[in-house]
Amino acid sequence: MTHLYDDPKTFMEDALAGFLDVYGDLVVGVPGGVVRATETPRGKVAVVVGGGSGHYPAFCGVVGPGFADGAVVGNIFTSPSTDDAFHVGKHADGGAGVLFSTGNYAGDVMNFDIARERLVAEGIDTRNVYVTDDVASASVEERDKRRGIAGDFVVFKVAGAAAEEGYDLDEVERVARIANDRTRSMGVGLAGCTMPGYEEPLFTVEPGRMGVGLGIHGEPGIADEELPRAADVGRMLLDKVLAEEPSDSGKRVGAILNGLGATKYEELFVVWGTVSRLLAERGYTVVEPEVGELVTSLDMAGISLTLVFLDEELERLWRAPASTPAYTKGSTAPQPASARRSATETTETQMEQAPGSDASVRAAHTAVAALQAMTVAIRDAEPELARMDAIAGDGDHGRGMIKGVTAALGAAQDCLAKGAGVASVLGAAGEAWGARAGGTSGFLWGQFLAAVGTRLTDDAPEITATDLAEAVRSGTDTMLRLGKAQPGDKTMMDALVPFADELEKRLGAGDRTAGAWRAAAAVATDAAAATAPLRPRLGRARPLAEKSVGTPDPGATSLAMCARVVADVLTAADQRKEPES
Ligand code: ADP
Ligand code: MG
Repeated sequence: MTHLYDDPKTFMEDALAGFLDVYGDLVVGVPGGVVRATETPRGKVAVVVGGGSGHYPAFCGVVGPGFADGAVVGNIFTSPSTDDAFHVGKHADGGAGVLFSTGNYAGDVMNFDIARERLVAEGIDTRNVYVTDDVASASVEERDKRRGIAGDFVVFKVAGAAAEEGYDLDEVERVARIANDRTRSMGVGLAGCTMPGYEEPLFTVEPGRMGVGLGIHGEPGIADEELPRAADVGRMLLDKVLAEEPSDSGKRVGAILNGLGATKYEELFVVWGTVSRLLAERGYTVVEPEVGELVTSLDMAGISLTLVFLDEELERLWRAPASTPAYTKGSTAPQPASARRSATETTETQMEQAPGSDASVRAAHTAVAALQAMTVAIRDAEPELARMDAIAGDGDHGRGMIKGVTAALGAAQDCLAKGAGVASVLGAAGEAWGARAGGTSGFLWGQFLAAVGTRLTDDAPEITATDLAEAVRSGTDTMLRLGKAQPGDKTMMDALVPFADELEKRLGAGDRTAGAWRAAAAVATDAAAATAPLRPRLGRARPLAEKSVGTPDPGATSLAMCARVVADVLTAADQRKEPES
């Protein structure tokens, strides 16, 4: 249970404010996250880590000399937005480029990839390394699909130490990739975690059982097994990790026995005793092991074992000193007081808003009404969406959708009040949705709205049925391109693609807008329900594909719901208008 919070909706912001107050001598807040309190020295590569929150000390707790230069901080268990990553990267850059590193999750990959493109466009060389240490999450053949768990810590530590030693960006990227290639983790979950404000944990583990192959976002374990003695848990974890030892292993390993948040240090030490003894018996030398909470998952009980198979370079970087809020090792050089950052400037810019054409402003009014209806519907459906996402995902879909749609509505209303057309209004809505919701669906919804608006334009003399069909098609294509999912992968594309097809068909046949949209929404609703028997092939739910069978995809379900309520808005708009000829 997460017991203490003021407002569950601002838990992350409230926690961050307290964190920054305690550690103000080491870190400062910037839009989107935190950076070191001292300027990045000219010519030093900036290592920027990140991900959702709920994982402390990951990720803002490891910002400091010898470790990260900045951390992008998302909502609980939700990827930060593109904007967040971009701003933290930009603040952290010291002229030698930025290495972004996060766990390998669809939402993080989408947002950090686009943030990289934006930094590069501003002349800041940027590379991205996604951590894939969790052996339980995909087979060896599909190692690039594995997710990042406590191995994040190893890759971030090594990259941070390399940057501190003066490696250039190519070299920091190279060694981070090697660290990732040589790091493996395996964990077990013993009790689920509860999001602030929720009554129920995201998953439960029966007494005497364990979930083998844990996730760090409240995803249940992949296999449910009987819980043996601690020694047998330690042996099992070690066997699974050693089964994937690289062929050129020199038998020297860095190790982490990580607690997930609610497992006592004493329990960790009990398990570590076995792991350490077995490693010695099997001829390994353990170099400076870490036993404690390094990458947590709110109040989840459970442990994971990470080994990094060291070579000479990795060993030096693994052992290098670091001093950060949550993690200190050896002693780092004192930071000159002259290098302290001055108060951070805000990145908001006020843009002039060109007025839209009459037709475009009318469409913008409809868009705002549509967002309003979606906000009401999503608010009602939040618990159900959360429940569906908790079965094989991380339970944040309801919260993410609310944050996204509420922010989108506010931004759209502000923009409309300035007389803008539908392209600007949907552009502002999309940007706000992506920025506030984070996560996979937040990013994709934001891009979808912006693409729809762009196709409709601010200065259209009229907006025809063809324009609407093409705009929805353009939004759909944007989502397909960025999300790389196809219908059948069990994502929201399973609802959106048939929706766009049906809308195009009906409008092409001369149906009135509201009727065509309603028919398309009905198709989307059926298509969303029909995802229940599928196994997800993408996204957070993929490692738990079997658990997902029987439950429709949450993203497809919420999308179909939005389509239905927008049909009502269009019908009402239609009734106010002259009859179409
Ligand atoms: P996250 O998965 O980052 O926690 P959400 O829970 O808000 O984000 O959204 C989950 C939904 O996102 C899934 O139910 C699925 O519909 C959708 N999704 C996941 N990956 C993709 C993708 N690659 N393309 C399109 N939609 C996706
Ligand atoms: Mg989710």
